Amino acid sequence: MNDCIFCQIAKKERNARIVFEDEKTAAFYDIHPQAPYHILVIPKKHITNVFDLKEEDKDLIGHIFLIINKIARDLNLFSFRIVTNSGREAGQSVFHLHFHLLSGRFMHWPPG
Ligand code: AMP
Repeated sequence: MNDCIFCQIAKKERNARIVFEDEKTAAFYDIHPQAPYHILVIPKKHITNVFDLKEEDKDLIGHIFLIINKIARDLNLFSFRIVTNSGREAGQSVFHLHFHLLSGRFMHWPPG
């Protein structure tokens, strides 16, 4: 989607501090970090959120979790939280599926 900022990052039309990328995914640092490590992992394909997932995305989502595992291992993040907000009331502000990888501080529960 042309006006989607994460599609623009995936297509290199917008700058981001990329941590990892491959044919199907990209991972980059969040511009407003909520923890010492705050990385967003996205599919390059535009998917709005979890509600928008289809059967055909099954392998892609598994792949994204393996990328998260690789990034956590590469950065020696032994304890981390994965968050995906789906829908405005849940806190989603960018409507392109993304997984927040948060680490480097104590995490509280329940989330706000
Ligand atoms: P959410 O509120 O769950 O949709 O998360 C969207 C996240 O994207 C927020 O944490 C923002 O700080 C982050 N964000 C927005 N624009 C950019 C950008 N251009 N580069 C990196 N992170 C961004």
